[in-house]
Amino acid sequence: MTSTGTLQRLKGLGPATAKLFEKLGISTLTDLLHYYPRTYQDRRPDEKPNDYNSNSLTVFKGRVLRTQEIPARSVLIFKAFLENEQGRQIECTWFKKRSFGRFRFDPFGPMKKDFKLNAEVWVIGRQEDRNNFFGNKITVEEYYPAADPLSALHAGRLTPIYSLTEGLTNKQFRLFMHEALQTEALQTEPEILPPALLAKRKLLGSTQALRGIHFPAGLAELDAAKARLAYEEFLLLATAWGIKRTQTKILEKGYSYEIKRTLLTPLRQNLGFQFTNSQKHVINEIFRDLQSPRPMNRLLQGDVGSGKTVVALCAMLLAAENGYQAALMAPTEILAEQHFITFEKMLKALGVKTAILTSSTKAAAKRKILKELQDGTIQIIVGTHSLIQEDVKFANLRLAVIDEQHRFGVRQRAQLKEKTAKLDLLTMTATPIPRTLALAFYGDLEVSTLTELPPGRQPIQTEAATEKLAFMRVTDEVAKGRQAYIVYPLIEESEKISAKAVSEEFEKLKTVFPQFRLAMLHGQMTQEEKEAVMADFAAHKTDILIATPVIEVGIDVKNATVMVIENAERFGLASLHQLRGRVGRGEHASYCILVAEHAGSIAKERVDIICRTCDGFKIGERDMQLRGPGEILGTRQSGELEFKAGDFFKDRDILTWAIEDRDELLTQDPALVQPAHRLFKQRLIQLYEKNWHLIDLS
Ligand code: ADP
Ligand code: MG
Repeated sequence: MTSTGTLQRLKGLGPATAKLFEKLGISTLTDLLHYYPRTYQDRRPDEKPNDYNSNSLTVFKGRVLRTQEIPARSVLIFKAFLENEQGRQIECTWFKKRSFGRFRFDPFGPMKKDFKLNAEVWVIGRQEDRNNFFGNKITVEEYYPAADPLSALHAGRLTPIYSLTEGLTNKQFRLFMHEALQTEALQTEPEILPPALLAKRKLLGSTQALRGIHFPAGLAELDAAKARLAYEEFLLLATAWGIKRTQTKILEKGYSYEIKRTLLTPLRQNLGFQFTNSQKHVINEIFRDLQSPRPMNRLLQGDVGSGKTVVALCAMLLAAENGYQAALMAPTEILAEQHFITFEKMLKALGVKTAILTSSTKAAAKRKILKELQDGTIQIIVGTHSLIQEDVKFANLRLAVIDEQHRFGVRQRAQLKEKTAKLDLLTMTATPIPRTLALAFYGDLEVSTLTELPPGRQPIQTEAATEKLAFMRVTDEVAKGRQAYIVYPLIEESEKISAKAVSEEFEKLKTVFPQFRLAMLHGQMTQEEKEAVMADFAAHKTDILIATPVIEVGIDVKNATVMVIENAERFGLASLHQLRGRVGRGEHASYCILVAEHAGSIAKERVDIICRTCDGFKIGERDMQLRGPGEILGTRQSGELEFKAGDFFKDRDILTWAIEDRDELLTQDPALVQPAHRLFKQRLIQLYEKNWHLIDLS
């Protein structure tokens, strides 16, 4: 690859500028060439004379008719009057602060050279009097003498605009880019895509594409350049994931499961309900994975309330039947606690030994649990990420289930990946990834989907309303013997401040609902306190639970029928959907009321979407569009899904090409050893060895 030295060979690029480039992540010529414009300004000359558009840019090329200097009290003014070939005239104005004293520098000195009589100049600016349809006064933002051939980089074209850092201007940057595109670096910039694929998809070559993305001759060239570069990005990532999948397949786990039914049959008999067809289907898929010689890596997605827990429980019982240990990890203590209670209820009769381990497990209890995990007494353990800490040793852990995996932090997820690499892994999420996307990109992951809810569920009536109306609904329902949640947002991401806010609201609400029994739940309470509050609410000893979003996942109280979400504009789509999923769990009609104020347009759209649909898949798709896939798949920090040229949604066709071609490529040449694939492989290694420790491309 090109070295830093070569980057500094660019004219005018000294150490100071190199530092600024570094800030942008540009340390080689290749980096620079792949630093694509953020957007483009249409600076082709206005087609129709006098077509001044009040908001858009005015781009004008004309000859200097005359100039004028006006000294005012504190500023100096310079004016230039230009006329173009069609006879249209404009008046350009610049202001400069006047400097007093002995300082005799003429601030307009350099400009006067450029605005000599009859000189031809490009000016780019905005109209001063936006309301005057015939206005011709321009506040100039940039100008370029037309005699300078380099002016063609900035004006009279689709002009690239880059995201830069302070100290760098777009004008400078375009000049550097232009130079980089002239250097031999571009000629030696390897074509990494296999020629066969380029021909098949009729894509631009890399040199042409790079020229086209930075200085497109027109929209057609820009589109072609973007398509080529998007395809390249998609193909690289898809191939990396494809290779990862093959490698996982090669790995043998060296143990297997047998369906003995000693625990599974009693579970079914004690369940109190029938599995939905969807649950049966998914359980079969999971059992097939577990019986295969390769480690399972399966994502179970299913909408809120679709019954993922009992599916996971079946998998864990299959492990227990075979004498293996299984662990279920949840992102919050409250959720872990809920699962533990559910499991205890279902498993007591079966004689399965379960336990719970979180960061608030007391030292003595923890010692006992650690011992029993190590000697194999505990068959099923539930917990938070405490489960993956150093001092936790298992006798024969084989199956790990991760609930609501998207709720774990990025670091925790990386840790989880490492710790579970050789285990059978089932991850669960209610924030579904659109199916095409999941299949396409999680090449290393099989996906199961629960497509139906248990029977008898009624859709949750959702509306945006005032707090007053929301509280009326709460009063109505609680008077009928139902229960309600009132949720306040996390304030500044801090549980501490939020806890305080909730405590204050709690005191107020006591006076709003004097006839009902209120309780409060937030993240600053001790584990015992939280447990007690939850137990009381589940047992209907309290009527209304006032809480922070700690209750977002897992809470399962069938008698609760109203969810009031305060400051709904502060919640993301996934959270809103999750919170709503806390009601509508029993046979009663349920309500979700969003109280939103001062919502911006995106927040409004989120609230609208939630009111319109209960379909988690639709919500997931929209969420991904609003936030970007990297944010949702939790890869934002690693940059894995931050495409520079491609767009997950707009470029779906290209994405489909890339997936097809990836499959063909890896079938033909699984290790990418053919000469035509050498450079592509090199690039893969370069990209993924650093930020993706899981892929072994050597
Ligand atoms: P989620 O998929 O959101 O994690 P849960 O696993 O918490 O959903 O299940 C929601 C509720 O539905 C639980 O009370 C569970 O016992 C119940 N449930 C699960 N499967 C069925 C079924 N097949 N029939 C009736 N109720 C079910
Ligand atoms: Mg769940």
